[in-house]
Parts: sequence; structure tokens; C-alpha cells
Amino acid sequence: MRGKKAAVGIYTLSGKPRWACAMCGMYSYHKYSVKRHIENLHNGIGNIVSFID
Ligand SMILES: [Zn+2]
Repeated sequence: MRGKKAAVGIYTLSGKPRWACAMCGMYSYHKYSVKRHIENLHNGIGNIVSFID
């Protein structure tokens, strides 16, 4: 099923910014999603990495 939590493969639409967790590689198109992920899974310790294709 297609879920919002799908984390297989890293593909971006051209020109879209992508945010990723430097700790484990989780990524999202939304910076706040990665920020919340870090807060929840890494106790707020982690870096958000940005990619722009
Ligand atoms: Zn992470």
C-alpha cells in the first residue's frame, strides 16, 4: 500500500527541496516533519540536512 511512511528509495521531483535526517537518513519534503522526527526518535539530537536537486 502506498503510505506516507514509505521510505524506500530516494527520488525527488526536479527542483523540489528535500530534507533528511542526518542520523538515520529519514527524509521528507517537509522540514518540520524531519524536525519532529528528530525530536521523537533522536531525543532532539540530530541534524537536518537539505538537498536540492
Ligand atoms: Zn532519524
